[in-house]
Amino acid sequence: MKIVVLKFGGTSVGSIERIKNVANIINSYYKKKYKPIVVSSAMSGVTNDLIKKSKEISENFLPSEYDVLVSSGEQIACSLIAARLSHIGIRSRSWLSWQIPIITKGNHKNAKILSIYRKKIFDYLKKGGIPIITGFQGIDVNERITTIGRGGSDASAIMLAKFFKAERCIIYTDVEGVYTTDPNKLKKARKIKVISYEEMLEMASLGAKVMQPVSIQDARLNRINIEVKSSFKKKPGTLITKRKNFKNNKIIAGISSTQNDAKVTLVGVKDKPGVAAKIFKPLSKNSINVDMVVQNVSANGKETDLTFTIKTDDLNRTKKIIEGNKEIKFRKLLLKRNVSKVSIIGVGMVTTPGVTFRMFQSLAKKNINIQVISTSEIKISVLIDKKNTKKAIIALHKEFKLDNQ
Ligand code: ADP
Ligand code: ASP
Ligand code: MG
Repeated sequence: MKIVVLKFGGTSVGSIERIKNVANIINSYYKKKYKPIVVSSAMSGVTNDLIKKSKEISENFLPSEYDVLVSSGEQIACSLIAARLSHIGIRSRSWLSWQIPIITKGNHKNAKILSIYRKKIFDYLKKGGIPIITGFQGIDVNERITTIGRGGSDASAIMLAKFFKAERCIIYTDVEGVYTTDPNKLKKARKIKVISYEEMLEMASLGAKVMQPVSIQDARLNRINIEVKSSFKKKPGTLITKRKNFKNNKIIAGISSTQNDAKVTLVGVKDKPGVAAKIFKPLSKNSINVDMVVQNVSANGKETDLTFTIKTDDLNRTKKIIEGNKEIKFRKLLLKRNVSKVSIIGVGMVTTPGVTFRMFQSLAKKNINIQVISTSEIKISVLIDKKNTKKAIIALHKEFKLDNQ
């Protein structure tokens, strides 16, 4: 069986006209004798709207009910696609995750797909049907509905490609592929033909919304090639694959940025073992994700300053937790909203000296102050004032010769 997994994102199924277009894309694979397995997100805006409703009901909305609520948008999109395919004479039906079932493990809101039962879908494919499967959702061992994190339909598609041994896995979205930076923010962004899992994972984790990070991890582990393309234009997209499959002569593959970050500084904490752990343990217990962390070298050996970043949404809770933490002492707590993390990513920086210097110099030339720095083997991130984000991306995009000529 020549199975192809086709995933459609929210904008691609965002209106009736677009759903008709999606049905035509699916039909084109069907005509080429592929057996499509289709995964759909909710129509654009629907999931956000459901999340808003949950907040209006309660700030402490039960996570198990939250998953039932926010996963419902996918059901609508899938039935519309299946019905449109039937309308044009193709056998098709929708499948909700529990009907297959798609089994997840882990907590509500952020579960992970563990396994997918194959029998029912295989039987249906053999009969010539096209299954339209809800992305983003599964069921856990207690048969409760779960969701797998925002943007999770990407991971649903990758796991379906894995369990059904698909020949191809195509992610249809609203841009032509993966670009050197968000093409909706920078006109000069360039479409990338091929990118490695490693670089894509960093780009996604550091803010490139085009692919969900978990999906790239799953693809890398299972060696699944991903094609990202536009559902609006018939143009070549981007291939995400292993590094060995292509020659890479770029130092920097791309630039990502985040929004809605906030910076927290504890001034004058005791400089002794265990203090950082005491600060971060209650944050982690409350599911607050701490991102960049820096601790200054202590000038007098007694006190130091500790800075870290979190999402702005978590700022009030973080403040309460730190101020209520009897186990730590500090002189002052500084909170700053409206900071943004800008990162350059590329495997080429491992072998090329001077990348850090070039990054810092080009930001300095634009008078952009760097507040926090963090690095890994293939990325450098800096925290800057949010208002300078675009300026920084333009400067770095030019510095590393990524501009579309
Ligand atoms: P979908 O609904 O299809 O899943 P998303 O909205 O999740 O689509 O992701 C696509 C969006 O990702 C694009 O519209 C684009 O603005 C954004 N994006 C951010 N960084 C990049 C990048 N480096 N390349 C392409 N798109 C990017
Ligand atoms: N509809 C879900 C979301 O908005 C899942 C997805 O789009 O992949 O996060
Ligand atoms: Mg998405």
